[in-house]
Amino acid sequence: MSFSTFGLSDEIIRAVTERGYTTPTPIQAQAIPAVMAGGDLLAGAQTGTGKTAGFTLPVLHRLSDKSIKGPSSGRPPIRALILVPTRELAAQVEESVRDYGKYLKLSSMMMIGGVNINPQITRLKSRVDILVATPGRLLDHVQQKTLSLSQIEILVLDEADRMLDMGFIRDIKKILALLPKQRQNLLFSATFSDEIRALADSLLNQPVLIEAARRNAIADKVTHVVHPVDRERKRELLGHLIKQHRWSQVLVFTRTKHGANKLAEFLTKSDIPALAIHGNKSQSARTQALAKFKTGDLQVLVATDIAARGIDISELPHVVNFELPNVPEDYVHRIGRTGRAGAEGDAVSLVCVDEAKLLTGIERLIKHQLPSQVVAGFEPDPRIKAEPITNGRGREPRSASAAPSRSPSKNQGGKKQFGQKPANGNVANSSRRRFSEPRRAAAGRGSSHAV
Ligand code: AMP
Repeated sequence: MSFSTFGLSDEIIRAVTERGYTTPTPIQAQAIPAVMAGGDLLAGAQTGTGKTAGFTLPVLHRLSDKSIKGPSSGRPPIRALILVPTRELAAQVEESVRDYGKYLKLSSMMMIGGVNINPQITRLKSRVDILVATPGRLLDHVQQKTLSLSQIEILVLDEADRMLDMGFIRDIKKILALLPKQRQNLLFSATFSDEIRALADSLLNQPVLIEAARRNAIADKVTHVVHPVDRERKRELLGHLIKQHRWSQVLVFTRTKHGANKLAEFLTKSDIPALAIHGNKSQSARTQALAKFKTGDLQVLVATDIAARGIDISELPHVVNFELPNVPEDYVHRIGRTGRAGAEGDAVSLVCVDEAKLLTGIERLIKHQLPSQVVAGFEPDPRIKAEPITNGRGREPRSASAAPSRSPSKNQGGKKQFGQKPANGNVANSSRRRFSEPRRAAAGRGSSHAV
C-alpha cells in the first residue's frame, strides 16, 4: 500500500515523499481513510505508531480541500484545533503540520504555556488555520478574549489518556463547550480507561474505531540498524540523527559513566536536552532525570547498562547504542526498551571499527546480521585502524576475544560497510530489515531479562 491510494492531494503526497515515507503504518492505513470520510474517530495508538501523520495528513487534506470556499469577510477563522497534553508534543505535532503542509496554503500555530503570552496574542491577529495547543494556555487566551474557537471544523484530542492523567479533564470540558456543535472529532489514546470511554461517549458521534497492533506483535515492531562511523564522530552523528529524524525521546546507551556524562554535556550544548544516569549519580538525580524523561520533558536520557536496569518506560520509540555493549546479551536487554506495548521501535547502533568484534558477537547471539547503513556525511575513514576496547577499567570486554576479527582491511568484500560510501547519499528506510528473533533468542536461552 502507498500513500497515493488515499486520495490525498498532490501537495501532501509530495511532502510525505520528501520526508522519506513510502508505506503507511497500520494506524495510518486505517485512520487516513476514516478521517477523509469526514466522520468521528476513536483510535487506540501510542507514540511510535505514526499516529501524528495519521491525523495530520487527512486534516490538512480536508482543510485545503475546502479552502477554495468563497472569500469570507474579515479574518479567516481557526478551523482545526489539536489539543495535546505537553509542550513537547505540541512542538512535535505543530512541526509535523508545517512539514506535511509545506506545499499548502495553510498556516499553523503552536500555543503552549511557560512562555510569554504576548507574541501568541500578536500571532493570533494574523491567519491561523490549525491551532496546536495545550489546554491551560488555550483557556488563558479564551479568558483574555484573544482567541475564538467558534468556527472549529475539526477537533483532535491527541494522547487523551495522558491529558486525563495530567488532570486536564475540566479544562477539556470547558474547551468543548466553546466549540461549535457541528464538527469532526478525532480522539487518540494509548489506553482506554473508564474515564476515556466516558469522554469518548460524550464527545464522539458514531465513531470509526481503530487500533494499532497490540502487544503480541511487539518484537516485529523493532527495526534494527547499524550506522558504521568513526569513533570520534559518533557524538556528532547522534546529534545529527536526533535532529534529522526529530526523535522526541531517545534512550542512549554508553559503555562508561564518564562517557555518559560527556555525551549528555555534548548534546545539551548542541541544543538537545540530555541528562545522564549512572551509578555515580545520586538517587534523587537519577529519579529526577527519569521522571523528566518519562513525562517527555527530557528529550535524551543517556544511561549505562546497569543504571538502565529496572527502567520501565513504555512506548519508547528510539534506543541508541552509542557504543555496543561489552556483553552481547546486553544488546537484547537494551533493545527491550523499545517497541513495547505494540509501538514501533528503532534500535540504532553507532559502530566504529573498534567494535567489529562486539558486533559479530551480538549477531551470533541473535542469529541475525544487523542491517548496516552508512549515513551520508559520516562515512568512516578506512585508514583508521581498530584499537582495543576497554570497559573503562582497562579490561578487554568478554566477547571481544571470543569472536573472529572483522577489521576493515579483512572485510573489503564483506557485508559490513566500514569505509563504504552510501548508495544514495541518505539513510534509506527501504534497506532496513525487520525481524523478531532477538526477543525469541533471549527467551529461548531462558534469559531472566527476556524482553
Ligand atoms: P508518531 O507515532 O506520530 O510519533 O510517529 C513516530 C515516528 O514514525 C516519527 O518519527 C515519524 O516521523 C515516523 N513515521 C510516521 N509515519 C511513517 C511512515 N509511514 N513511514 C516511516 N516513518 C514514519
